[in-house]
Amino acid sequence: MTATRKRFIAGAVCPKCQSQDTLAVWRENDVDTVGCVKCGFAQRQTDQQLADNKTMEPENIIGIFHLD
Ligand SMILES: [Zn+2]
Repeated sequence: MTATRKRFIAGAVCPKCQSQDTLAVWRENDVDTVGCVKCGFAQRQTDQQLADNKTMEPENIIGIFHLD
């Protein structure tokens, strides 16, 4: 198993299950991926999507979880 750091996004709502504060961001194969820890939704973020996504701003990150 590879240690993965997931950064949870404060106030973000999952587009799939509509839960709040369940979305996290992590690096997967050098691509930023946003996923929901509740329902398993996952979406890779391109640089253009990141620029348009205000939820990715650092001040919205509520914590860094070390799973190793
Ligand atoms: Zn979800």
